[in-house]
Amino acid sequence: MNIPFLDLKRLNAAHDEAIRAGIERVLASGWYILGAEVEAFEREFAAYCEVKHCIGVADGLDALSLTLRALGIGPGDEVLVPSNTFIATWLAVSSVGAIPVPVEPRPGTHNMDPERIEDAVTARTKAIMPVHLYGQPCEMEAINAVAQRHGLKVVEDAAQAHGARWQGRRAGSLGIAAGFSFYPGKNLGALGDGGAVTTNDDTLAAKLRLLRNYGSTQKYRHEVQGVNSRLDEIQAAVLRAKLSALDADNVARARVAAWYDEALTGADVIRPVVAPGAEPVWHLYVIRTPRRAAVQAALTAAGIGHLVHYPLACHQQPAYAALAWPSLPIAEAFQHEVLSLPMAPYLTRDDVFRVAEVVRSVG
Ligand SMILES: *Cc1c(COP(=O)(O)O)cnc(C)c1O
Repeated sequence: MNIPFLDLKRLNAAHDEAIRAGIERVLASGWYILGAEVEAFEREFAAYCEVKHCIGVADGLDALSLTLRALGIGPGDEVLVPSNTFIATWLAVSSVGAIPVPVEPRPGTHNMDPERIEDAVTARTKAIMPVHLYGQPCEMEAINAVAQRHGLKVVEDAAQAHGARWQGRRAGSLGIAAGFSFYPGKNLGALGDGGAVTTNDDTLAAKLRLLRNYGSTQKYRHEVQGVNSRLDEIQAAVLRAKLSALDADNVARARVAAWYDEALTGADVIRPVVAPGAEPVWHLYVIRTPRRAAVQAALTAAGIGHLVHYPLACHQQPAYAALAWPSLPIAEAFQHEVLSLPMAPYLTRDDVFRVAEVVRSVG
């Protein structure tokens, strides 16, 4: 029996009835943009993240870039970002005309190393955008302390961390604002694109509501030159159906991660490290091995899915070739060693031990 990397059809089948009921409500309502479903989802997701406001937008990239724009960050400004992340983190900074300035991770957690942040701060630095990569929350009290010393805003990229907690507090509530993605493969995924910003800041929330809807809250009156970036009613209804099961799904992912830890104990690979104070949500289970190609070949031969997150560091992407980057040895080493094993709430102990057996067969 094959084990795919992620079977989205199977994942969503677990919520089939609730999803269909949600879509039916939208059809019956005849209201498709910024209506009751988006309002209810925003209320429910804000409560879930333990913050005052949630603003639904079109996708995770917009959630981050509109937040930077609403904070007044633009050309000439610098924003500290992780050297190893999905490129959307960097693109959000670039999209407002600011410069992404990379900070290397702690090798254990893969997350931005708070001790390296201060070295990257200049007179132009305006914000830090830590990413809770693979669902592991960043060391936020250390990051917030540096931010406070230098008067920087902290915007979380929580696109992989729906439900994670740092020292008891939810991802999404740990900075001035946070961007979430509801891309189908995320822990809370829509049946298409979707995103949201969470914040406790009333002014910021109001600005984001304007920006996402043509700069308008009152039809045909436009306060600012906004954009069209709205979470739509159908996706909001789907997300509501799945949100009620998110905690249970995350618990199931944690069980899968614990089985991997058990099954890979003693194997010659580096397993994920959970920082003290972190409650991760295991968006991905990422190991490191210098023999990655051999492990990939063995998994493929056994019918087991696997992926690399990410095969090319942002600063080495053609998209960023025009800028001069310092050497970033940790991110550069990771891209050759990281390997994501199948991770989903529905995986069984037998599945996990079969994957681990193939990994161990290579060593
Ligand atoms: C998925 C993701 C995004 C972007 O989300 P989209 O909805 O695809 O635009 C941003 N940052 C990280 C870390 C992500 O994984």
